[in-house]
Amino acid sequence: MDIHEYQAKEILAGFGVAVPPGALAYSPEQAAYRARELGGDRWIVKAQVHAGGRGKAGGVKLCNNDQEIVDACEGMFGQRLVTHQTGPEGKGIYRVYVEGAVPFEREIYLGFVLDRSSQRVMIVASSEGGMEIEEISAEKPDSIVRSSVEPAVGLREFQAREIAFALKIPPALTQQMVRTLMGCYRAFRDLDATMVEVNPLVITSDNRILALDAKMTFDGNALFRHQQISELRDKSQEDPRESRAADRGLNYIGLTGNIGCIVNGAGLAMATMDTIKLAGGEPANFLDIGGGATPERVAKAFRLVMSDKNVEAVLVNIFAGINRCDWVAEGVVQALTANPVDVPVVVRLAGTNVEAGLKILNESGLPIIAATSLMDAAEKAVAAWRGENGGDKVHYIKAGAN
Ligand code: GDP
Ligand code: MN
Repeated sequence: MDIHEYQAKEILAGFGVAVPPGALAYSPEQAAYRARELGGDRWIVKAQVHAGGRGKAGGVKLCNNDQEIVDACEGMFGQRLVTHQTGPEGKGIYRVYVEGAVPFEREIYLGFVLDRSSQRVMIVASSEGGMEIEEISAEKPDSIVRSSVEPAVGLREFQAREIAFALKIPPALTQQMVRTLMGCYRAFRDLDATMVEVNPLVITSDNRILALDAKMTFDGNALFRHQQISELRDKSQEDPRESRAADRGLNYIGLTGNIGCIVNGAGLAMATMDTIKLAGGEPANFLDIGGGATPERVAKAFRLVMSDKNVEAVLVNIFAGINRCDWVAEGVVQALTANPVDVPVVVRLAGTNVEAGLKILNESGLPIIAATSLMDAAEKAVAAWRGENGGDKVHYIKAGAN
């Protein structure tokens, strides 16, 4: 789960990382008022969206007076900011953050990420801050400093000092740099983050180390033990299909194809998407409904998948291990009887009691297209989507047909 810059800064400040004074605003007038409260004579107005690259996209504006703040805000509120990280639809701007502008001498890149292969926290830093890390690694790879932390030991001060030396931080600022690194690391570790990025971290003209930007991403599976973090969730920044799924405990990623997928197990869901592509179709989504595959979950999954207007066929692929196919088949029949859908539905069942399951589907009277193997299912789904269905008349489950 992502959070906003101003939220990440507040969290990092709580761990001893220095950030500029700032204030949040929900309207242009409020932004001007908050700037006056902050004092000073130059401010940075920053669109709060869950994406980087705002500076280049016009989401970060330097302002010298009230009028400029109001003008900058009017260009932001209610607009969608499109950056290289948002995709063409952009992200809605509903909050801005106002900060006193800080003159600085140097920009540094600082990132903490979870390195799954080494099972460690990887610290990535560069003396070339301000650019995105992808650009830095393409253009100035030699400037990148890497250091990995064994979580059982934690980040030690000597290791933080080594990073400061490698970045050529002036000796008088080493202690501030160590404090910054330790603070970011502890925030990452204590709050189950998967990413902390400060870009740029600057050395100000009056010799302080300050985080001018901050991004944090949290492990969704650990949110249950961090209530204050889960409360920071901002649904306005999420794909509405994905927020709906998250609210229902389903693991859903929206895609751009036409074949909706309802699958139990993440690995099987990936394999299902691959097989659909192999058969010449395009999946509309990734959806792992979890191990249970109860009628309620299947019904929720159908409602979610069908809420995507691009869906023109649905492939249900259930592997019953602990589960039983007959029981899942009952679930599918119940779900489709209660909530009829108006596109072809292909169901492939495998595992325990598969014959009993297929019998239930066949005897249900619902025009479900049953499949045996995964490839068979994908081919039938693609054929149904194309309106072919192997020469047979295409069966649709019409709304209200039951
Ligand atoms: P991003 O483009 O989404 O990563 O947004 P940033 O918060 O990093 O802002 C983009 C750029 O604006 C930064 O790289 C800085 O160069 C500049 N910037 C941000 N805050 C300040 C500030 O307080 N003072 C000055 N002079 N520049 C700033
Ligand atoms: Mn930045």
